[in-house]
Amino acid sequence: MTRQRVVIIGAGFAGLSAARALGNSPCEVLLVNRENYHTFVPLLHQVATCGLAPEHIVYSIRNLIKKYSNIKFVTSEVDKIDLGNKIIEVNGVLITYDYLILACGSTSRFFGVPGAYEHSLTLKSLSNSVNIRNHLLHCFEVAQEEVRVSRQQQQLTFTIVGGGATGVEMAGELATLVYGTLSKDYPNLDFRRVRVLLLHSGERLLPDMPTRLSNYTARQLWQLGVEVQLNSRVTGVTENAVHLEDSRVIPCHTVIWTAGVEGDNKLNKWGLLTNRNNQVKVFSTLQVPEHPQVYAVGDLAALHDKQLPMVAPVAIQQGITAANNILRQIKGKNPQPLHYQHQGSMVIIGRHAAVAHIGKVKLTGFPAWLLWLVIHLACLPGNLNRLHVLISWGWIYFLREHPIRLIFRQDSLAKYQDVPLPNLDRVQGKD
Ligand SMILES: Cc1cc2nc3c(=O)[nH]c(=O)nc-3n(C[C@H](O)[C@H](O)[C@H](O)COP(=O)(O)OP(=O)(O)OC[C@H]3O[C@@H](n4cnc5c(N)ncnc54)[C@H](O)[C@@H]3O)c2cc1C
Repeated sequence: MTRQRVVIIGAGFAGLSAARALGNSPCEVLLVNRENYHTFVPLLHQVATCGLAPEHIVYSIRNLIKKYSNIKFVTSEVDKIDLGNKIIEVNGVLITYDYLILACGSTSRFFGVPGAYEHSLTLKSLSNSVNIRNHLLHCFEVAQEEVRVSRQQQQLTFTIVGGGATGVEMAGELATLVYGTLSKDYPNLDFRRVRVLLLHSGERLLPDMPTRLSNYTARQLWQLGVEVQLNSRVTGVTENAVHLEDSRVIPCHTVIWTAGVEGDNKLNKWGLLTNRNNQVKVFSTLQVPEHPQVYAVGDLAALHDKQLPMVAPVAIQQGITAANNILRQIKGKNPQPLHYQHQGSMVIIGRHAAVAHIGKVKLTGFPAWLLWLVIHLACLPGNLNRLHVLISWGWIYFLREHPIRLIFRQDSLAKYQDVPLPNLDRVQGKD
């Protein structure tokens, strides 16, 4: 009997967990990912703020799947899908599938704010975080040479938009970097001119957490030197300023946008039905309407009956459910709905400061901080990565110095994009 072919697009938390659940099963799996590595997204902010080296929060996908003989991997960005004929195009080669799992994650959402897309930095990928690191350090280099005070203040004003988990973590770590480490690197700069602002349109930070934890978070950020500005909706971003709904204008050279996420524009092009947030609408079994052989999982999926947070545990559980449902379909059984188990949420703010909400337990301060470190270290793939990260954390903790204060030029990667795929003749078409 011909083996059924499952194609998985995206090897983030959702795609990788689906691939693993299909590992050594009777089907043939083709995993396609834009990069040849899996990114541990929850540590991106620490790369962006000079705490961790980029290599230490990613892991080779080939290494992760090498024990599964039925999984093949291709590094490529999928641009074309023909759902009607069950074909995807990878680097110009057409590949047929029996089942498809879409796990391409999300992109930043700018809510139509003029200039936000053009003039903001985002934190969604490893290259984004290296970009931010380069940009932050470059601002200090320029500010050091600037004699005009107003220009210097503009260079040294760092605005983070969005008071959700990513915005809070980024703001806390940035303030720690600036006032703890960079103040020693630039002894001639007047650090009273530096501002780290966290703008949030709502009444409290971390709106998904209990109010007590939101209030604690705001207090801790103020102590670190972050100006937390609530009820501050951004209405425009230019190269040199942020404009707010209440007519305030903040002159600044740096805007880091963490205010929202949405599905990729490609989803509509592929003929998928999306919601207002541009996520693919799926049934509780994670199947895409009208295409029972197609599943959407992780950040890009929107369940028709309930809203789930866009976090890694949801993506992992959805990936496993989609894989199990495909195995059921192959056996002629009905797919099962997702039974999501909420494992709680946690956010790190700074040294000995974090919040955690797990079941009925609400933790703040040192216990939450320690728990955050332990869980993130345990979940990071690769023992060598864990060792590197532990050493870097120890370095920052004991020496109060962020070790990776380097500006790297990023050469174009275009030359790598059309590399012929060595094993395509084996994955193209069916025997
Ligand atoms: C800065 C930041 C911090 C976060 N911190 C936490 C946290 O502490 N805890 C938590 O639970 N969640 C956290 N999240 C959310 C969590 O990272 C996401 O919910 C999770 O990554 C979603 O998993 P996913 O598999 O859907 O997408 P992703 O992990 O984003 O993976 C998508 C993959 O698809 C690939 N891809 C995309 N398009 C294509 C294409 N066309 N062709 C081929 N490949 C493609 C991408 O390269 C990527 O590898 C954080 C998110 C961010 C941005």
